[in-house]
Amino acid sequence: MSDFATISTDSSKSPHLDNFDLHNHSTCSDGLLSPTQLMELAAKAGVDAIALTDHDTTDGLAEAHEAAKRLGVNLVDGVEISVSWGVTTLHIVGLWIDPNAPELVAGLQSVRQGRLDRARLIGEALAKIGFPHTYEAALALASNDAMVSRTHFARYLADSGAVKNIQAAFDKYLGKGRPAYVPHRWAGLEEAITWIKAAGGIAVLAHPGRYDLKPSIRDALLEEFRSLGGEAIEVVTGSHRPEEYNTWRRLAEEHGFLASRGADFHGPGESPYEPGELPPLPASCVPVWSKRAH
Ligand code: AMP
Ligand code: MN
Ligand code: MN
Ligand code: MN
Repeated sequence: MSDFATISTDSSKSPHLDNFDLHNHSTCSDGLLSPTQLMELAAKAGVDAIALTDHDTTDGLAEAHEAAKRLGVNLVDGVEISVSWGVTTLHIVGLWIDPNAPELVAGLQSVRQGRLDRARLIGEALAKIGFPHTYEAALALASNDAMVSRTHFARYLADSGAVKNIQAAFDKYLGKGRPAYVPHRWAGLEEAITWIKAAGGIAVLAHPGRYDLKPSIRDALLEEFRSLGGEAIEVVTGSHRPEEYNTWRRLAEEHGFLASRGADFHGPGESPYEPGELPPLPASCVPVWSKRAH
């Protein structure tokens, strides 16, 4: 349970100025810091609340809660679920979830299946174009084999000097349409939302600007997401360029979504914003936390 439903923030300031950072990763998925280290960073930043939202797992939440309690940090239980929507991979963040809800536990278990097989195929594809042993190397960088991700391959390619940085690894080899891209079937959109709602949570469309959808498809996605029970979209995120914030603020308002804010922090020096350091939501947004705080 999030401790924080009982905690009110400074009511003298407008809720959009609260420092809620609702999207962060740990070593339980593809982050570089342990859940404890992430909470230490959140305490230092003085956030009003932080969510741990690892990809397809809630394994880090127990450790994060221990540290959060010790440090006086308000922790929101979260997860980021990988979804296949037609040919597009989407990420759906669940916030204020009960990580023990059976439907969510079983659903996440089913999404994690297949990551290892996909990683083997990515390793084979990289070997064919001159990069041997990357499967073993990526596994060595993942704290849990079942959670091995393209990020681990990208880190290895960057660390070994094959590419200049992680971004280049995605642009040249691992991104969609590149030679080591291996398509994968993740959860369905309706499934992911159902699991989150069954766990008492709020479903948030993560970094909508990242999907590169033309306006008609983008609007169809927003309508479908809302009709299936999605309640919020990320507006201010480390995965949007600042000049995109206003577009997603407008679309949130037009489509009747609450707005979320999250660094999508993966590690120091690797992500554009440290936890709690990104700009506030635009003033006209209705923050997703207005449902849970004040
Ligand atoms: P996976 O779930 O294994 O397909 O890996 C997806 C993860 O790769 C995302 O959560 C991001 O952390 C990372 N990622 C995807 N695309 C990029 C990109 N263009 N640049 C940097 N990281 C990326
Ligand atoms: Mn990631
Ligand atoms: Mn994501
Ligand atoms: Mn993320």
